[in-house]
Amino acid sequence: MNPIGLYVHVPFCLKKCPYCDFYSIKFDDALAERYTQTIITEMFTYDHIKADTLYFGGGTPVLLGAPRLKRIIDAAKKQFSLEGEFTVEANPCSIDKQTLLELKQAGFNRVSFGVQSGVDKELHSLGRAHTKMQALEAVKGAKEAGFTNISVDLMIGIPHQTPQTLLSSLEFIKQLDVPHVSAYILKIEQGTRFYEDNTAALCPDEDSVCDLYLNTIEFLNSIGVEQYEISNFAKKGFESKHNLKYWRCEEYLGFGASAHSYYKGKRYLHPRDIEGYLSSNGNNYQISDKQAGGFEEYAMLRLRLSEGIDLSLLDKRFCFDKEKILRRAKPLEQSGLLRINGEIIFLTPKGFLVSNAIIASLIS
Ligand code: SF4
Repeated sequence: MNPIGLYVHVPFCLKKCPYCDFYSIKFDDALAERYTQTIITEMFTYDHIKADTLYFGGGTPVLLGAPRLKRIIDAAKKQFSLEGEFTVEANPCSIDKQTLLELKQAGFNRVSFGVQSGVDKELHSLGRAHTKMQALEAVKGAKEAGFTNISVDLMIGIPHQTPQTLLSSLEFIKQLDVPHVSAYILKIEQGTRFYEDNTAALCPDEDSVCDLYLNTIEFLNSIGVEQYEISNFAKKGFESKHNLKYWRCEEYLGFGASAHSYYKGKRYLHPRDIEGYLSSNGNNYQISDKQAGGFEEYAMLRLRLSEGIDLSLLDKRFCFDKEKILRRAKPLEQSGLLRINGEIIFLTPKGFLVSNAIIASLIS
C-alpha cells in the first residue's frame, strides 16, 4: 500500500474575507485547545498506516500557534509513521519571523502564503488584512527561517484587475523568487459577501479573465515556474506532493470540521460544524460516496494535470472504451484544446479554461 496523505483543517480566522467560502469561524483560544486535542484523538482512531504528507489548511492554521501544531505533527508521526512533506498555510499578516522559526523547528518544511495580489488597492478590495510589503516580509522571513519550499497564492479575475495590474502582481511574484505558485480564478460563491454585494460587476468579464489566466501561464512558464495543474505552477521538484495525491486519485485522510477523506474506496467528510466535531470527539463524519475512484472520477482528476492521462496504463484498473475516448479526443486536438501523444491525452492551457466541458465530452 502506498503512503497516504493527511490533511488537517483549522477553521479559525481573525476575520472573514468577503469572497471566502471555506469553513472558518472567529479564533477563540479555548476552542483552539479543544480542537487540537480532538484532532489528535481522531488520528488515533485509524489503523497504523504509513503517510508521507501532512497539510494544514484553513482557515488560518498558524493561529493555533507552533506548540499546538507540533503536538498534532508529533501525534501524526506516531500514528502514521509520518515522514515527508509538511505544509502549513499562512497569512502574511498573521505571522512573524519568530513564528516562522518555531514552525520550522516544529517540523514544517513547506509554507504556503495567501499573497493573492502584489497591488495594495486590489488587496484592499479583496478585504485582505495584509499589504504587499507584509507579503514581501513574510516570504523573506520564511527564507531566513530556513524554508526553501515556499508557495504563494495569486488570484485572477478580482475586482478592478487589468492586464497591467496582473503584470505588477506577476513581477512581484518574480521578485519573491519562490518555487511554487497557485493561481486561482476568483469564483464568487453564494453565501459570501461578494455575492450579496454583487461584486462580480467590479470584476473583469469572462473573456478578459481567460486572457488574464493565459497571461499568467505564459509569464510563470517564462520564469521557470511551470504549470503542472490547472491552477498550480512549480519549479522542477517543487510540485506539491500532498495536492498531487488528490489529482492522482490517491488516498488521504482529512481531520477536523469540513475536512474530506478518500480512503478504502470511499469518500467521506466531516460537516462544517465545529461543535458537532468536538462533541462527537471527531467521530461525526458522513459518507459522501461509497464507490469512489471509478474511471470517470479518475479521468476528471488526472486531466487537471499537465501530465494528463495515460490510457494504456489503465486497462487493468478500469473497464472503459479506450478507442472511443481517443476518437472523441481527435477533433478537440484539432481545435487546440488538447494534445494526444500515443495513448496519453493532456489538455492545453486553452483546454484548461473549458476543462469540465472537455472532460464531459470525452467520457460521457
Ligand atoms: S483568511 Fe483565508 S480562510 Fe480565512 S476568511 Fe480569509 S480567505 Fe477565508
